[in-house]
Amino acid sequence: MHEMSLTEGVVRILEEQAAAYGFAKVKTVWLEIGEMSNVDPDSMLFCFDAIAKGSPVAAEARLEIVRVPGQGFCLSCGKQVAVANRFDPCPECGGFGLRITAGDEMRIKELEVE
Ligand SMILES: [Zn+2]
Repeated sequence: MHEMSLTEGVVRILEEQAAAYGFAKVKTVWLEIGEMSNVDPDSMLFCFDAIAKGSPVAAEARLEIVRVPGQGFCLSCGKQVAVANRFDPCPECGGFGLRITAGDEMRIKELEVE
């Protein structure tokens, strides 16, 4: 379950941000998870609950997952298209060679702090 280490990474970032910007607690974390990122949102929520408890900064934080749909730029026809799977052909022209532009990563979008 790699979500456990991903969650630890998120909590570490929250602690670093707290130290850098001088806030004591995070109230809400909006975490973007791309639909092609192989990160399971339910596992993230489960792991976050377990791990955040051990951090003064994150103990009371609520995790909000924001799903980001896959998007790609087709090198064959030059269109921006929706992508469900990384190795799918372009839905417009059938060409292979989509460059993924969104939906394959996980990142912290926003924090509500106090
Ligand atoms: Zn295309």
